[in-house]
Amino acid sequence: MKISAVDIITLKAQPTAGQTPVLVRIQTDDGIYGYGEVGVSIMNYSLGSVALLRTFSAMILGMNPLENDVIYSKLITTFWARGNGGVILAAISAIDTALWDIQGKYFHVPVYELLGGKHRDKLRCYASQLQNGWKYPNFNSAPGDLGFLREACAAAVDDGYDCVKIDFLAKHFDGSRISVYEAQNHLERSTLREIEQKLDAVRQVIGDDVELILENHCLTSAATAIEFGKLAQRYDPILLEEPANPLDVLDYRRIRDALSIPLATGERSYTRRGFLPLLQAGLLDTIQPDLGNCGGITEGRKIADLAETFGASVQTHTCNTPISVAAALQFEAAIPNFIIHEHHTNNTLPINTELCIYDDQPVNGYYIVPDRPGLGNELTEKALSEATIVTVR
Ligand code: MG
Repeated sequence: MKISAVDIITLKAQPTAGQTPVLVRIQTDDGIYGYGEVGVSIMNYSLGSVALLRTFSAMILGMNPLENDVIYSKLITTFWARGNGGVILAAISAIDTALWDIQGKYFHVPVYELLGGKHRDKLRCYASQLQNGWKYPNFNSAPGDLGFLREACAAAVDDGYDCVKIDFLAKHFDGSRISVYEAQNHLERSTLREIEQKLDAVRQVIGDDVELILENHCLTSAATAIEFGKLAQRYDPILLEEPANPLDVLDYRRIRDALSIPLATGERSYTRRGFLPLLQAGLLDTIQPDLGNCGGITEGRKIADLAETFGASVQTHTCNTPISVAAALQFEAAIPNFIIHEHHTNNTLPINTELCIYDDQPVNGYYIVPDRPGLGNELTEKALSEATIVTVR
């Protein structure tokens, strides 16, 4: 079997989610094809991977798609990929994921079988990014407002989720963004008061038994993460995500020493080399690699194994189309140190639920691991007809 062509697919833009998904469909002379997605579509960075995908696709034409490790090595050792970097790794990750999809279809097994088998049939999920709402029902309040947050939390708990994730630093009550300057240097008293009211409201709505994850999106520095964390830890969160830039190991050291909240990061870390410094220093409880930018399933497995040796659990970062979700589900089923699956509010919206032929959704806060061959999902004809497709052959 040989790779005969690669379709680089730029889907219709998703302005409500602020992203444009880019995927690859690798075709073979056997007639089998596989899908993979670029994992940097937030803010449309995915468009930067399109040109790279043209180059990388030309390099793999004629190669055997079952030799994913050989292909990964070829791409990861190209000139600029040697130092990693999100947009480059995202292009490589999309190709790698598509190769796993092909292999699963070739052997008529789901990808989790290729990875050594599933450790579990169901994956516990958390409802993610509730500051943006949940399923966008007709809320009575505007984003940023306490009422909006209360309604989103109530909707997620009603759906059966026993864990939620919220960015408490995203917006002021009036909907305006907290400035990068403030978030990096010193949180004002008025901002901290708003955050405290939000934390209070969330804990009241979700109750004592629902778990809470804090999401900082790397907006904070060590100083402001500590200001925020000292307030937030009174509400018993189970994780503080991306409290600082993952390259700033000393910031994570300061945060670790100052707070009692377990720490997580990973959606902005690429390959094992991106995770090693923080893991080695004992600064992470959970890692959150994005299979669409960490190096794909091939590298993701190595990252998860590395994390296991340092006692860290894994939750993949997912906020893109159902193709990314499908890859995450297969992967998370097959690693021993899985902790929880991120179910992003974007993945409850028609812009995503209508993109693929299967709309797998969690039931009562749990995903059943799909057992269709490969990743087990693909784009609909309608999604393809609305996309811009460049074919390298
Ligand atoms: Mg995140």
